[in-house]
Amino acid sequence: MKPMGALPAEFAAQSGMLTIAGTAAEAWAAETPVFVYDMGIVAARANRFRAAFPDVDLHYAIKANPLPTLLERIAPLVDGLDVASGGELEKALAVKPAGAISFAGPGKRDGELIGAIRSGATLNVESEGEAERALRLGEELGVAPRLAVRVNPDVELRGSGMKMGGRPSPFGVDAARAAALVRRVVADGADWRGFHIYAGSQALDAGAIVETQAATLALAARLADEAGEAPPLVNLGGGFGVPYFAGDASLDVERVGAALGEALAQRPAVLREARFAIELGRWLVAEAGVYLTRVVDRKESQGETFLVTDGGLNHQLAASGNFGTVVRRNYPLALARDVTGEGRETVSVVGPLCTPLDRLGDRVGLPPAEVGDVIAVFLAGAYGASASPAGFLGHPPALEVVAG
Ligand SMILES: *Cc1c(COP(=O)(O)O)cnc(C)c1O
Repeated sequence: MKPMGALPAEFAAQSGMLTIAGTAAEAWAAETPVFVYDMGIVAARANRFRAAFPDVDLHYAIKANPLPTLLERIAPLVDGLDVASGGELEKALAVKPAGAISFAGPGKRDGELIGAIRSGATLNVESEGEAERALRLGEELGVAPRLAVRVNPDVELRGSGMKMGGRPSPFGVDAARAAALVRRVVADGADWRGFHIYAGSQALDAGAIVETQAATLALAARLADEAGEAPPLVNLGGGFGVPYFAGDASLDVERVGAALGEALAQRPAVLREARFAIELGRWLVAEAGVYLTRVVDRKESQGETFLVTDGGLNHQLAASGNFGTVVRRNYPLALARDVTGEGRETVSVVGPLCTPLDRLGDRVGLPPAEVGDVIAVFLAGAYGASASPAGFLGHPPALEVVAG
Protein backbone atom coordinates (compact mmCIF):
# COMPACT_ATOMS: atom_id res chain seq x y z
CA MET A 1 0.00 0.00 0.00
CA LYS A 2 1.26 3.46 -0.88
CA PRO A 3 0.47 6.55 1.18
CA MET A 4 -1.96 9.19 0.07
CA GLY A 5 -2.47 12.79 1.09
CA ALA A 6 -4.74 13.68 4.00
CA LEU A 7 -8.34 14.70 3.37
CA PRO A 8 -8.88 18.46 3.84
CA ALA A 9 -9.96 19.13 7.44
CA GLU A 10 -13.58 19.86 6.46
CA PHE A 11 -13.93 16.34 5.03
CA ALA A 12 -11.63 14.50 7.43
CA ALA A 13 -14.09 15.35 10.22
CA GLN A 14 -16.88 13.38 8.52
CA SER A 15 -17.86 9.71 8.67
CA GLY A 16 -20.23 7.52 6.68
CA MET A 17 -21.48 9.07 3.45
CA LEU A 18 -19.34 12.00 2.32
CA THR A 19 -21.29 15.25 2.24
CA ILE A 20 -20.28 18.33 0.26
CA ALA A 21 -21.87 21.63 1.28
CA GLY A 22 -24.36 19.65 3.37
CA THR A 23 -25.56 17.38 0.57
CA ALA A 24 -24.66 13.71 0.19
CA ALA A 25 -22.01 12.91 -2.41
CA GLU A 26 -24.36 10.27 -3.85
CA ALA A 27 -26.84 13.05 -4.69
CA TRP A 28 -24.16 15.21 -6.32
CA ALA A 29 -23.09 12.11 -8.26
CA ALA A 30 -26.44 11.60 -10.02
CA GLU A 31 -24.35 12.18 -13.14
CA THR A 32 -20.64 11.41 -13.08
CA PRO A 33 -17.91 12.46 -13.40
CA VAL A 34 -18.58 15.75 -11.66
CA PHE A 35 -16.57 18.42 -9.87
CA VAL A 36 -18.36 19.92 -6.86
CA TYR A 37 -17.00 23.18 -5.40
CA ASP A 38 -18.05 24.04 -1.84
CA MET A 39 -18.15 27.84 -1.68
CA GLY A 40 -18.41 27.70 2.11
CA ILE A 41 -14.83 26.40 2.17
CA VAL A 42 -13.68 29.14 -0.23
CA ALA A 43 -15.32 31.79 1.97
CA ALA A 44 -13.63 30.32 5.04
CA ARG A 45 -10.23 30.57 3.34
CA ALA A 46 -10.90 34.19 2.34
CA ASN A 47 -11.93 35.03 5.93
CA ARG A 48 -8.80 33.39 7.25
CA PHE A 49 -6.70 35.52 4.90
CA ARG A 50 -8.51 38.70 5.99
CA ALA A 51 -7.85 37.99 9.63
CA ALA A 52 -4.16 37.22 9.02
CA PHE A 53 -3.48 40.10 6.58
CA PRO A 54 -5.72 42.99 7.63
CA ASP A 55 -3.82 45.60 5.59
CA VAL A 56 -3.23 43.63 2.40
CA ASP A 57 -5.53 43.30 -0.61
CA LEU A 58 -6.55 39.79 -1.62
CA HIS A 59 -6.47 38.95 -5.31
CA TYR A 60 -7.71 35.74 -6.90
CA ALA A 61 -5.61 34.35 -9.77
CA ILE A 62 -8.42 32.97 -11.88
CA LYS A 63 -6.36 30.45 -13.82
CA ALA A 64 -6.66 28.17 -10.75
CA ASN A 65 -10.37 27.82 -11.48
CA PRO A 66 -12.04 30.06 -14.07
CA LEU A 67 -15.54 28.55 -13.94
CA PRO A 68 -17.89 31.54 -14.49
CA THR A 69 -20.36 30.50 -11.78
CA LEU A 70 -17.47 30.16 -9.30
CA LEU A 71 -16.09 33.58 -10.34
CA GLU A 72 -19.47 35.17 -9.61
CA ARG A 73 -19.31 33.79 -6.09
CA ILE A 74 -15.65 34.53 -5.40
CA ALA A 75 -15.65 38.09 -6.81
CA PRO A 76 -17.30 39.69 -3.75
CA LEU A 77 -14.84 37.88 -1.45
CA VAL A 78 -11.69 39.39 -3.00
CA ASP A 79 -10.37 42.85 -3.88
CA GLY A 80 -9.00 41.99 -7.28
CA LEU A 81 -8.87 39.38 -10.00
CA ASP A 82 -5.63 38.50 -11.77
CA VAL A 83 -5.97 37.17 -15.29
CA ALA A 84 -3.49 35.85 -17.84
CA SER A 85 -5.28 35.86 -21.20
CA GLY A 86 -7.86 37.79 -23.17
CA GLY A 87 -10.34 34.99 -22.45
CA GLU A 88 -9.78 35.28 -18.71
CA LEU A 89 -10.07 39.07 -18.98
CA GLU A 90 -13.55 38.69 -20.49
CA LYS A 91 -14.58 36.35 -17.67
CA ALA A 92 -13.21 38.69 -15.01
CA LEU A 93 -14.90 41.77 -16.52
CA ALA A 94 -18.23 39.96 -16.23
CA VAL A 95 -17.93 39.90 -12.43
CA LYS A 96 -15.60 42.74 -11.35
CA PRO A 97 -14.92 46.34 -12.41
CA ALA A 98 -11.89 46.83 -14.67
CA GLY A 99 -10.11 48.85 -11.98
CA ALA A 100 -9.88 45.66 -9.88
CA ILE A 101 -8.44 43.51 -12.66
CA SER A 102 -4.81 43.04 -13.66
CA PHE A 103 -3.60 41.14 -16.68
CA ALA A 104 -0.21 39.40 -16.51
CA GLY A 105 1.39 36.76 -18.71
CA PRO A 106 3.89 36.72 -21.57
CA GLY A 107 2.99 37.04 -25.24
CA LYS A 108 -0.07 39.27 -24.98
CA ARG A 109 -1.38 39.79 -28.50
CA ASP A 110 -2.31 43.27 -29.73
CA GLY A 111 -5.98 42.37 -29.47
CA GLU A 112 -5.52 41.41 -25.82
CA LEU A 113 -3.63 44.63 -25.07
CA ILE A 114 -6.39 46.64 -26.75
CA GLY A 115 -9.05 44.81 -24.74
CA ALA A 116 -7.29 45.66 -21.49
CA ILE A 117 -6.58 49.29 -22.43
CA ARG A 118 -10.16 49.91 -23.62
CA SER A 119 -11.69 48.37 -20.51
CA GLY A 120 -9.30 50.07 -18.08
CA ALA A 121 -7.78 46.90 -16.66
CA THR A 122 -4.14 47.08 -15.56
CA LEU A 123 -1.59 45.44 -17.81
CA ASN A 124 1.32 43.88 -15.96
CA VAL A 125 3.91 44.25 -18.69
CA GLU A 126 6.34 41.38 -19.09
CA SER A 127 8.97 43.06 -21.28
CA GLU A 128 10.11 46.37 -22.73
CA GLY A 129 8.69 45.33 -26.10
CA GLU A 130 5.28 44.65 -24.62
CA ALA A 131 5.33 48.01 -22.81
CA GLU A 132 6.15 49.77 -26.09
CA ARG A 133 3.27 48.07 -27.89
CA ALA A 134 0.86 48.95 -25.06
CA LEU A 135 1.98 52.60 -25.15
CA ARG A 136 1.59 52.78 -28.94
CA LEU A 137 -1.85 51.13 -28.86
CA GLY A 138 -2.90 53.45 -26.03
CA GLU A 139 -1.91 56.43 -28.15
CA GLU A 140 -3.90 55.10 -31.10
CA LEU A 141 -6.93 54.60 -28.86
CA GLY A 142 -6.47 57.96 -27.13
CA VAL A 143 -6.38 56.26 -23.72
CA ALA A 144 -3.52 56.35 -21.20
CA PRO A 145 -2.90 52.66 -20.54
CA ARG A 146 -2.75 51.47 -16.95
CA LEU A 147 0.59 49.69 -16.72
CA ALA A 148 2.32 47.87 -13.89
CA VAL A 149 5.83 46.55 -14.39
CA ARG A 150 6.24 42.87 -13.68
CA VAL A 151 9.70 42.28 -12.30
CA ASN A 152 11.68 39.08 -12.72
CA PRO A 153 12.99 39.15 -9.15
CA ASP A 154 16.54 38.30 -8.22
CA VAL A 155 15.06 36.28 -5.31
CA GLU A 156 13.33 32.92 -5.54
CA LEU A 157 10.77 31.28 -3.31
CA ARG A 158 12.68 28.58 -1.43
CA GLY A 159 10.88 25.22 -1.30
CA SER A 160 8.24 26.20 -3.84
CA GLY A 161 6.89 23.64 -6.28
CA MET A 162 7.27 26.02 -9.22
CA LYS A 163 10.08 28.55 -9.07
CA MET A 164 9.56 31.71 -11.05
CA GLY A 165 12.32 33.99 -9.87
CA GLY A 166 16.08 34.20 -9.68
CA ARG A 167 16.75 32.92 -13.20
CA PRO A 168 16.26 33.73 -16.89
CA SER A 169 12.52 33.96 -17.37
CA PRO A 170 9.75 34.65 -19.86
CA PHE A 171 7.98 36.39 -16.96
CA GLY A 172 8.77 39.97 -16.06
CA VAL A 173 11.59 42.40 -16.75
CA ASP A 174 14.90 41.62 -15.06
CA ALA A 175 15.21 43.58 -11.82
CA ALA A 176 18.29 45.38 -13.14
CA ARG A 177 16.24 46.99 -15.96
CA ALA A 178 12.90 47.48 -14.19
CA ALA A 179 13.49 51.02 -12.89
CA ALA A 180 14.44 52.24 -16.36
CA LEU A 181 11.22 50.80 -17.73
CA VAL A 182 9.17 52.53 -15.02
CA ARG A 183 10.74 55.88 -15.93
CA ARG A 184 10.03 55.21 -19.59
CA VAL A 185 6.31 54.37 -19.17
CA VAL A 186 5.77 57.31 -16.83
CA ALA A 187 7.51 59.67 -19.30
CA ASP A 188 5.33 58.34 -22.11
CA GLY A 189 2.13 59.18 -20.27
CA ALA A 190 1.02 55.79 -18.97
CA ASP A 191 -0.95 55.55 -15.74
CA TRP A 192 1.75 53.65 -13.84
CA ARG A 193 0.16 51.28 -11.33
CA GLY A 194 3.25 49.89 -9.61
CA PHE A 195 5.09 46.58 -9.44
CA HIS A 196 4.13 42.95 -9.79
CA ILE A 197 6.69 40.58 -8.32
CA TYR A 198 5.96 36.85 -8.33
CA ALA A 199 8.58 34.44 -7.02
CA GLY A 200 6.93 31.01 -7.05
CA SER A 201 4.02 28.69 -6.31
CA GLN A 202 2.94 25.88 -3.99
CA ALA A 203 5.09 26.69 -0.94
CA LEU A 204 4.10 25.13 2.41
CA ASP A 205 7.01 26.53 4.41
CA ALA A 206 5.92 29.73 6.18
CA GLY A 207 9.55 30.68 6.85
CA ALA A 208 10.35 30.57 3.14
CA ILE A 209 7.39 32.78 2.27
CA VAL A 210 8.26 35.26 5.04
CA GLU A 211 11.81 35.50 3.68
CA THR A 212 10.61 35.95 0.11
CA GLN A 213 8.07 38.62 1.03
CA ALA A 214 10.71 40.57 2.95
CA ALA A 215 13.06 40.36 -0.03
CA THR A 216 10.23 41.34 -2.39
CA LEU A 217 9.37 44.37 -0.30
CA ALA A 218 13.01 45.43 -0.22
CA LEU A 219 13.28 44.95 -3.99
CA ALA A 220 10.16 47.07 -4.61
CA ALA A 221 11.58 49.84 -2.42
CA ARG A 222 14.97 49.73 -4.14
CA LEU A 223 13.39 49.85 -7.62
CA ALA A 224 11.04 52.68 -6.64
CA ASP A 225 13.98 54.71 -5.29
CA GLU A 226 15.97 54.00 -8.42
CA ALA A 227 13.04 55.03 -10.64
CA GLY A 228 12.26 58.07 -8.51
CA GLU A 229 8.57 57.10 -8.49
CA ALA A 230 6.38 55.88 -5.62
CA PRO A 231 4.28 52.87 -6.69
CA PRO A 232 0.52 53.03 -6.04
CA LEU A 233 0.41 49.24 -5.67
CA VAL A 234 2.92 46.50 -4.98
CA ASN A 235 1.66 43.04 -5.84
CA LEU A 236 3.85 40.84 -3.64
CA GLY A 237 2.98 37.61 -5.45
CA GLY A 238 1.57 34.64 -3.60
CA GLY A 239 2.74 31.08 -3.71
CA PHE A 240 0.65 29.84 -0.77
CA GLY A 241 0.53 26.06 -1.15
CA VAL A 242 -1.95 23.39 -0.16
CA PRO A 243 -1.19 19.93 1.29
CA TYR A 244 -1.67 17.46 -1.57
CA PHE A 245 0.46 14.58 -0.39
CA ALA A 246 1.23 12.39 2.61
CA GLY A 247 3.47 14.27 5.01
CA ASP A 248 2.48 17.74 3.71
CA ALA A 249 1.41 20.14 6.45
CA SER A 250 -0.88 23.13 5.88
CA LEU A 251 0.77 26.50 5.52
CA ASP A 252 0.83 28.60 8.68
CA VAL A 253 -0.67 31.73 7.11
CA GLU A 254 -1.07 33.45 10.47
CA ARG A 255 2.71 33.34 10.88
CA VAL A 256 3.19 34.77 7.39
CA GLY A 257 0.62 37.48 8.07
CA ALA A 258 2.22 38.51 11.37
CA ALA A 259 5.66 38.78 9.78
CA LEU A 260 4.39 40.74 6.80
CA GLY A 261 2.47 43.07 9.09
CA GLU A 262 5.72 43.87 10.93
CA ALA A 263 7.65 44.32 7.71
CA LEU A 264 4.99 46.67 6.33
CA ALA A 265 4.95 48.71 9.52
CA GLN A 266 8.67 49.39 9.01
CA ARG A 267 8.59 49.86 5.27
CA PRO A 268 10.81 52.40 3.57
CA ALA A 269 9.45 55.90 2.93
CA VAL A 270 9.09 55.40 -0.83
CA LEU A 271 6.43 52.74 -0.13
CA ARG A 272 4.59 54.75 2.52
CA GLU A 273 1.55 55.47 0.30
CA ALA A 274 1.51 52.14 -1.54
CA ARG A 275 -1.18 49.51 -1.26
CA PHE A 276 -0.08 45.88 -1.15
CA ALA A 277 -1.70 42.83 -2.65
CA ILE A 278 -1.22 39.08 -2.46
CA GLU A 279 -2.50 37.00 -5.36
CA LEU A 280 -3.67 33.50 -4.58
CA GLY A 281 -5.05 30.73 -6.72
CA ARG A 282 -4.96 27.24 -5.29
CA TRP A 283 -4.91 28.27 -1.63
CA LEU A 284 -8.39 29.75 -2.02
CA VAL A 285 -10.05 27.03 -4.07
CA ALA A 286 -8.14 23.73 -4.21
CA GLU A 287 -9.48 22.24 -0.99
CA ALA A 288 -13.05 23.29 -1.80
CA GLY A 289 -13.26 21.00 -4.82
CA VAL A 290 -14.10 17.29 -4.93
CA TYR A 291 -14.09 15.24 -8.12
CA LEU A 292 -16.64 12.42 -7.99
CA THR A 293 -16.30 9.46 -10.30
CA ARG A 294 -18.13 6.15 -10.43
CA VAL A 295 -16.62 2.66 -10.51
CA VAL A 296 -17.42 1.02 -13.85
CA ASP A 297 -15.37 -2.16 -13.46
CA ARG A 298 -13.46 -3.97 -10.79
CA LYS A 299 -10.76 -6.31 -12.02
CA GLU A 300 -7.83 -8.32 -10.79
CA SER A 301 -4.55 -8.58 -12.65
CA GLN A 302 -1.52 -10.44 -11.41
CA GLY A 303 -2.50 -9.99 -7.81
CA GLU A 304 -3.43 -6.29 -8.09
CA THR A 305 -7.01 -5.00 -7.80
CA PHE A 306 -8.10 -2.24 -10.16
CA LEU A 307 -11.13 -0.01 -9.74
CA VAL A 308 -11.83 1.36 -13.20
CA THR A 309 -13.80 4.61 -13.00
CA ASP A 310 -15.68 6.78 -15.48
CA GLY A 311 -13.34 9.70 -14.77
CA GLY A 312 -9.63 10.11 -15.23
CA LEU A 313 -6.77 12.34 -16.24
CA ASN A 314 -8.84 13.89 -19.03
CA HIS A 315 -10.63 15.81 -16.23
CA GLN A 316 -8.25 15.70 -13.29
CA LEU A 317 -4.75 15.53 -14.77
CA ALA A 318 -3.04 16.72 -11.61
CA ALA A 319 -4.21 13.71 -9.55
CA SER A 320 -2.58 11.41 -12.11
CA GLY A 321 0.77 13.04 -11.36
CA ASN A 322 1.22 14.51 -14.82
CA PHE A 323 0.83 18.22 -14.05
CA GLY A 324 3.97 19.83 -12.68
CA THR A 325 5.22 17.00 -10.48
CA VAL A 326 8.41 15.01 -10.92
CA VAL A 327 7.54 11.99 -8.78
CA ARG A 328 4.01 10.58 -8.88
CA ARG A 329 2.35 10.63 -5.45
CA ASN A 330 -1.24 10.00 -4.44
CA TYR A 331 -3.75 12.76 -3.91
CA PRO A 332 -6.25 11.99 -1.13
CA LEU A 333 -9.06 9.69 -2.31
CA ALA A 334 -12.02 8.14 -0.53
CA LEU A 335 -14.90 5.77 -1.04
CA ALA A 336 -17.77 8.26 -0.89
CA ARG A 337 -20.17 6.07 1.14
CA ASP A 338 -17.54 5.46 3.84
CA VAL A 339 -15.43 8.59 3.57
CA THR A 340 -13.07 8.04 6.48
CA GLY A 341 -13.44 4.26 6.52
CA GLU A 342 -10.39 2.15 7.20
CA GLY A 343 -8.29 1.29 4.12
CA ARG A 344 -8.80 -2.47 4.37
CA GLU A 345 -8.06 -3.16 0.73
CA THR A 346 -5.20 -2.12 -1.54
CA VAL A 347 -6.49 -0.97 -4.93
CA SER A 348 -5.38 1.09 -7.88
CA VAL A 349 -7.99 3.56 -9.10
CA VAL A 350 -7.65 4.05 -12.85
CA GLY A 351 -9.62 6.00 -15.43
CA PRO A 352 -11.06 4.85 -18.75
CA LEU A 353 -8.31 6.27 -20.96
CA CYS A 354 -6.21 3.85 -22.95
CA THR A 355 -2.91 4.96 -21.42
CA PRO A 356 -1.07 3.74 -18.32
CA LEU A 357 -0.76 7.39 -17.25
CA ASP A 358 -4.46 7.39 -16.35
CA ARG A 359 -4.13 6.47 -12.69
CA LEU A 360 -5.95 8.50 -10.03
CA GLY A 361 -4.75 6.35 -7.13
CA ASP A 362 -1.75 4.02 -7.11
CA ARG A 363 -2.11 1.08 -4.69
CA VAL A 364 -4.07 3.11 -2.14
CA GLY A 365 -5.90 1.72 0.89
CA LEU A 366 -9.69 2.04 0.68
CA PRO A 367 -12.67 0.25 2.20
CA PRO A 368 -13.76 -2.51 -0.23
CA ALA A 369 -15.51 -0.90 -3.23
CA GLU A 370 -17.81 -2.39 -5.84
CA VAL A 371 -19.01 -1.50 -9.31
CA GLY A 372 -21.41 1.46 -8.96
CA ASP A 373 -19.64 2.96 -5.95
CA VAL A 374 -18.52 6.60 -6.06
CA ILE A 375 -14.86 7.48 -5.52
CA ALA A 376 -14.05 11.01 -4.35
CA VAL A 377 -10.79 12.66 -5.38
CA PHE A 378 -9.98 15.63 -3.13
CA LEU A 379 -7.98 18.83 -3.78
CA ALA A 380 -9.82 19.11 -7.08
CA GLY A 381 -10.83 22.77 -6.86
CA ALA A 382 -7.73 24.18 -8.55
CA TYR A 383 -6.02 23.18 -11.80
CA GLY A 384 -8.66 20.48 -12.37
CA ALA A 385 -11.20 20.74 -15.16
CA SER A 386 -9.63 23.71 -16.92
CA ALA A 387 -6.06 22.37 -16.66
CA SER A 388 -6.77 18.89 -17.99
CA PRO A 389 -6.79 17.57 -21.58
CA ALA A 390 -10.58 17.18 -21.87
CA GLY A 391 -10.38 16.36 -25.58
CA PHE A 392 -7.94 13.46 -25.13
CA LEU A 393 -9.70 10.15 -25.96
CA GLY A 394 -13.02 11.81 -26.74
CA HIS A 395 -14.94 11.23 -23.51
CA PRO A 396 -17.51 13.88 -22.49
CA PRO A 397 -16.32 16.73 -20.30
CA ALA A 398 -16.96 16.55 -16.55
CA LEU A 399 -19.84 18.47 -15.04
CA GLU A 400 -18.91 21.29 -12.69
CA VAL A 401 -21.22 22.40 -9.89
CA VAL A 402 -20.90 25.29 -7.47
CA ALA A 403 -22.40 24.38 -4.11
CA GLY A 404 -23.07 26.01 -0.77
C1 LIG B 1 -0.43 30.87 -11.53
C2 LIG B 1 -0.22 32.17 -10.91
C3 LIG B 1 -0.80 32.44 -9.67
C4 LIG B 1 -1.58 31.43 -8.90
O1 LIG B 1 -0.76 30.41 -8.43
P1 LIG B 1 -1.26 29.45 -7.25
O2 LIG B 1 -0.12 28.54 -7.03
O3 LIG B 1 -2.47 28.75 -7.75
O4 LIG B 1 -1.57 30.30 -6.08
C5 LIG B 1 -0.62 33.70 -9.16
N1 LIG B 1 0.09 34.63 -9.82
C6 LIG B 1 0.68 34.40 -11.00
C7 LIG B 1 1.45 35.47 -11.66
C8 LIG B 1 0.56 33.17 -11.58
O5 LIG B 1 1.15 32.93 -12.75
